[in-house]
Parts: sequence; structure tokens; C-alpha cells
Amino acid sequence: MKRIAVLTSGGDAPGMNACIRSVVLTALHFGYQVYGFRHGYNGLVDNEIELLTMQQVRHIIQKGGTLLKSARCSKFKTESGIKLAAKHLDAAEIDALIVIGGDGSLRGMMHLSKYWQGQLIGIPGTIDNDLSGSDNTIGFQTATETVIDAIDKLRDTADAFERIFMVEVMGRDAGFIALSSGIASGAEQIIYPEGLKDIHQELDCIIQHVESARKLHGRSSYIIVISENLWPGGAYDLSQVLTEQIGIECRPVILGHIQRGGCPNGFDRILATKLGVFAVEAIKNGHSLMMVGEISNELTLTAISDCVNNKKPVDKKLSDIQAKVFDSVEILSNCT
Ligand code: ATP
Repeated sequence: MKRIAVLTSGGDAPGMNACIRSVVLTALHFGYQVYGFRHGYNGLVDNEIELLTMQQVRHIIQKGGTLLKSARCSKFKTESGIKLAAKHLDAAEIDALIVIGGDGSLRGMMHLSKYWQGQLIGIPGTIDNDLSGSDNTIGFQTATETVIDAIDKLRDTADAFERIFMVEVMGRDAGFIALSSGIASGAEQIIYPEGLKDIHQELDCIIQHVESARKLHGRSSYIIVISENLWPGGAYDLSQVLTEQIGIECRPVILGHIQRGGCPNGFDRILATKLGVFAVEAIKNGHSLMMVGEISNELTLTAISDCVNNKKPVDKKLSDIQAKVFDSVEILSNCT
């Protein structure tokens, strides 16, 4: 009987539980034993292993977070840590390991493959959506909805007080959440890494946009959505710069970890379920060092090295729309 193991690693994402459930139920369907390692790669290094049963995954499809817990693990990046991980996998006679996580977690799998001979299958689970090899990663759509909901609420109060808000959203070094949520919430400005050459250089343009919008529409609400990690000190400091330079108060809102929590939406539950089934089937078919994904509604297998080494572009149709909206305030036609 094959023994497979599963763990969740890196930032947690809504839908990870749905994916664990799918992996466990599919593995049991094929007659495999399935184990979970807790706390991401720490579970491999510290041998935190447990047998997973059908009972444990009942009624978790709708739950945020992850039953197996998640964590970062610096020890896993060291040779001694990874050798310990390989030793524990061998001691438990694991044939295949499924990792649900983001690009760092997948890099960890590539590292592990140098020390462990078992099959390795990755499932893209991160709100950042920054993995090539799948149109959507598990959690991205739910996180985007969470941001849209928050911005809608901010809009109400911004309208009432005719305020400028700068809303900082997650995404690591990618702008998927900013671009999608900014467009869906009708933000006046979206600042995200793929649409920006150098934020310091473009600061004047950003300020001009706020000023010209106020000239065009009078005092009214104005919402800037900005990706994290674009300015030292984030939205707190950048909104202060704008406040000083425009002379109108700009309030920062850092949405933070609420973006990771909450029940997964229907899309993420279904994606997680499909990818969980497909991952176990990939193991059954003898694959290794592949990531399962969904591209144009087709389930796909892509080499993990390609998923982490090829930068995933944002949707050009969305960035074009954003550029048009941005240009709609006349003075900005001079800004590129
Ligand atoms: P997210 O971006 O959603 O937070 P992630 O999987 O990219 O998810 P990371 O913190 O980058 O999150 O990576 C998770 C874990 O993967 C790290 O804590 C570490 O244990 C492991 N890892 C990352 N990069 C490597 C690497 N180059 N070699 C070995 N292990 C790695």
C-alpha cells in the first residue's frame, strides 16, 4: 500500500482545508494511507506526523486557515535540517509528499528532492497568485473578495467625509490582489509592482493624479490601492508624504492579515478540491517534481522549476483597463 503525506507551508490561504480534505479523500479512495505533517516544513524537521482519517476532514471544506497549521521554517533551508526531514520521511516509509503552498514552499520541494527519493507534488496555495502554472492559486479569489468588501466599506465613509484613503494590500512582490480588487472596487488609483517602473520617480505623477481628480470632481472621496513592499514604511509613510505634498489629509489603511482569513469562497473550494484530486492522481501516475494547476479550465502539470522561475504576468486586459482609468483624469496624459 502506498503511503502519502501532505503539509501546508508558507502563508496560509483560504481553501487549504478544502484541499487537504480532497487529498485525504482521494488517497483513501485509491487505498493509500495518508499522513499529515504539521506546521509546514517544521513538521518534517521535527517529525510532527499524524495519520489522517476521513473523520478528521469531515466538515472542513468551508473553514479558513489550515487543519495542519502552517509556518515558515528556516531550518529547512539548512543541510542539517533538510537531511533530518528526509530521514523522517524515510522512517515513516512515505512514498510521496504533497506540499500546498506558495513559491517559497515549492523551492523547498526542489531543495528536498536532492536529499529524498520519494515523489514530490506541489499544489499552489497562496493568496498572492504569484505562481506560473495555474491561472489561480488557492486563496487568491477569496482574498480579493475580502479586499473588495473592505474597500466598499471604506468608500462609504470616504464619501461621507470626502476623504482620501490609501489602502495597502498583500501580494508579496506581485500585484494580482491590488489590480483585481482595485478594478472591482472602482479605486481611483492602483499602484502595483508590475505597473510601476520606480515609485520614487513616479511620485509626482501620483500626486498630480490626486490633485487633478480634485479639480475635475471637486472634493470627493478618492481611493488609492497600493501593493505592499513598494515604499519604505509602506502606506503609513507614503500617505504621510502625500499629505504633506498635496496639503490634503490622506489616510492609510493597512488591511493586513484579514486578507488571509475567512471562509473560502465557492471558487476556491472547487479549485482546491479539483487540485487535491489531481495531485493524488499525479502520484498514482508516477509523476514527481510537478505542480498541479488549472490553465484555461484544463487541469495541468508543470515542472516545479518552471513554476517558480518564470514570473507570472498580471492579466494584460486588466492592466490595460487600469491604464485607461488612470488616464481618464486629463492632466495625467503627460504622465507615463
Ligand atoms: P506565501 O508567499 O504565500 O507566504 P510561500 O510558500 O512563498 O508562501 P515562504 O515563506 O517563501 O512562503 O516559504 C515557505 C517555506 O518554504 C520557508 O519558510 C522555508 O521553510 C521553505 N523554503 C523557501 N525557500 C526555500 C529554499 N530556497 N530552500 C529550501 N526551503 C525553502
